[in-house]
Amino acid sequence: METLANFINGEFIAPQENSYLDNIEPATGAVYGQVPNSGEADLDLAISAAESALPLWRNMPAEQRADILYKLALLIEENLEPLAQAESQDNGKPLSLARMVDIPRAASNFKFFAQASSQFASQSHAMPGDAINYTLRQPIGIVGCISPWNLPLYLFTWKIAPALAAGNCVIAKPSEVTPKTAAMLGELCIQAGLPKGVLAILHGEGGNIGSLICNHPKVKAISFTGGSVTGAAIATQLAPTFKKLSLELGGKNPALVFADCDFDKTVDELVRASFANQGQICLCASRIYIERSIYEKFKAAFIAKVSMVSPSDPLDETSRMGAIVSQAQYNKVLSYIELAKEEGATVLTGGHSVDVEGRCQQGYFIAPTVVEGLPIEARCNQEEIFGPLVTLEAFDDDEQALALANGTNYGLASTLWTENINRAHRIAEQINTGIVWVNCWLHRDLRTPFGGMKASGLGREGGEEAMRFFTEPKNVCIKYND
Ligand code: NAD
Repeated sequence: METLANFINGEFIAPQENSYLDNIEPATGAVYGQVPNSGEADLDLAISAAESALPLWRNMPAEQRADILYKLALLIEENLEPLAQAESQDNGKPLSLARMVDIPRAASNFKFFAQASSQFASQSHAMPGDAINYTLRQPIGIVGCISPWNLPLYLFTWKIAPALAAGNCVIAKPSEVTPKTAAMLGELCIQAGLPKGVLAILHGEGGNIGSLICNHPKVKAISFTGGSVTGAAIATQLAPTFKKLSLELGGKNPALVFADCDFDKTVDELVRASFANQGQICLCASRIYIERSIYEKFKAAFIAKVSMVSPSDPLDETSRMGAIVSQAQYNKVLSYIELAKEEGATVLTGGHSVDVEGRCQQGYFIAPTVVEGLPIEARCNQEEIFGPLVTLEAFDDDEQALALANGTNYGLASTLWTENINRAHRIAEQINTGIVWVNCWLHRDLRTPFGGMKASGLGREGGEEAMRFFTEPKNVCIKYND
């Protein structure tokens, strides 16, 4: 059984109070490791190491910082296989997905922001004949990065990379549910030559060490990805401190399928968009609205494809759907399936847990589930379930489709499926989500703004938005002599 340690001042250190949490493998339901349950003393060590490291790191030439981050990216690539194995075991996601998506993307995050650090420029505003303004964009100092369990290393590095690239020292906390690859990242930081103290990786419970990081007076900004309820609690706590806060929260993402879509492609892509990572991606489609004239045809084709997907041991090379991340999440998804039935839904496929033979007998597996017949007001259409459950509903025209799409408190991502370019532009303009994909899903360019509206968050990540978040703009106005 492996016992993880915190990564502080370039070293692996046991939690000061010697307190640990169990790490459970979702595919087996068995405890397979121990995770530090960090507290105040661990944070104090990390903060003092960051304070010592900050002058060196913030004043290091951008090119040198970029070299270190680029080296880290290459080390992630070199270690793709052990990282993918660890991610699959820790999270329950198919090994193939971790290999193809999670780990390569973690490397891309560091490559992308390594380049960004050397190309990030600031503005100047001339007042002709009078004065010149220029904007300094300076590192904030020590910042906190807190990430969830669904895309563990992918999202952890998505925050850490721009924070470091901008010259900050980082206190980072991965989810206590999936700590393994974050711990492995510490080892790679040593190999990449990241100066001691620049990055601390503290493990433990959100309500404990997560909250301590957010509230520490020397942590000047928080970048958080997680649930909307947690985001609201953090925002409430931090409001009086005026800390910079970026919140990437939950979603209840609509897909609008029009009769003029490329039918086969739409069905294939929406199966992926609904059930990739067991439906545990904040961007997954969870409400599929279909133009009435093709509703029955779409439903039949969609159900036929979905019924062919069955969860299996995620470490099996052929697995395309793995385990739900934890017992708590498993119970939550099953309770929503029951709620859907109580709310009057018809279960079209799935709707139950799945027994996987062999080593996975006690694992958390749920069949991909599709239901129909729920009104927009139903809780299953309003609340984020974050699992393999999608609802289908018909619409009659563009206006109704738009009203349904915009009919929740969330606003993260949407997908539009149509070959009519005018409709695509018109609806994209009117839909209230931070990301709109037309005839595709999860097609990412790391330069684009990423984030949500309404209860899906505050601020944007990605590209310049992230570099801006992790720097403090300061305007300098120089008045010419008369
Ligand atoms: P969560 O909110 O329970 O936890 C997220 C992280 O915050 C974890 O590291 C947790 O330990 C920590 N945390 C919990 N309480 C805290 C507190 N009071 N103070 C500080 N930190 C605290 O979320 P989760 O269950 O890990 O992740 C699932 C959620 O994340 C879903 O709602 C999903 O939509 C969302 N998510 C959003 C995005 C996005 O980019 N918008 C991406 C992935 C996941």
